[in-house]
Amino acid sequence: MKYVLVSGGVVSGLGKGVTASSIGVVLQACGLRVTSIKIDPYLNTDAGTMSPFEHGEVFVLDDGGEVDLDLGNYERFLDVTLTKDNNITTGKIYQSVLEKERKGDYLGKTVQVVPHVTDAIKNWIQSVSLIPVDGKEGPADVCVIELGGTVGDIESMPFIEALRQLSFSVGPDNFCLIHVSLIPVLGVVGEQKTKPTQHSVRELRALGLTPHLLACRSAQPLLDNTKEKLSQFCHVPLDNILNIHDVPNIWHVPLLLRNQNGHHSILKQLNLLSKIAPPDLR
Ligand code: ADP
Repeated sequence: MKYVLVSGGVVSGLGKGVTASSIGVVLQACGLRVTSIKIDPYLNTDAGTMSPFEHGEVFVLDDGGEVDLDLGNYERFLDVTLTKDNNITTGKIYQSVLEKERKGDYLGKTVQVVPHVTDAIKNWIQSVSLIPVDGKEGPADVCVIELGGTVGDIESMPFIEALRQLSFSVGPDNFCLIHVSLIPVLGVVGEQKTKPTQHSVRELRALGLTPHLLACRSAQPLLDNTKEKLSQFCHVPLDNILNIHDVPNIWHVPLLLRNQNGHHSILKQLNLLSKIAPPDLR
């Protein structure tokens, strides 16, 4: 199984869900089977009890799971049928750890965030990624994981640590981290600002995760010198800096990724380029 992790920096509501779904679409277009997992670091067990005014629509899955609206994006973009286990929340993880603790499964050990909660997260991700969601038999080739919230949030720390451990155990050929970040333009200066992204990448690296691609959200397309700055200061190759500027309709986003050869960069990171890419991309 290959994992593509989509994290977010600077502010929430950047379009991580749309970006993660669109990444799935371009990978599917390369002939890969794709599944997805959404991680929501809140303590609610699921989105069913959350106000739609605060949180957006509650998406109801075929198995009755009441989940985050991003799973609706995944189902619509990727033509898959997800299960409630494809939406991981802090509430669900703690519930499973505490149930095990009450049953005595930890055999007298002190139950801790590291390693017990982080192990529960890793095990959940690895087992759910194997569930076929596209009507075919056997597990998908790639699992796109969207980490909700913003890097640096206290509540997402156990997930970041679990994902760091996962990236280490599956190895570099099986893990691609795409960091979605904001490139604002200051009205008075009129310049695309890279500093907030530099800081969020630094934060990510301090937590042991290095982004392989940057997906930059901006009002207008990125200028060449903005991309060069991002590449130099965030330690990400220029070709791996993708721009997802505001579009009138989110269905344009997979095309934006394809037009910038985003699939090429992801396939290269996952060591799949020679195996499945069309000859003109190798
Ligand atoms: P997040 O997962 O980061 O909270 P979402 O994927 O839910 O963000 O997107 C937040 C909002 O931004 C949604 O209403 C979505 O339709 C919109 N959006 C996302 N990407 C773009 C884009 N490139 N252009 C315009 N609107 C976008």
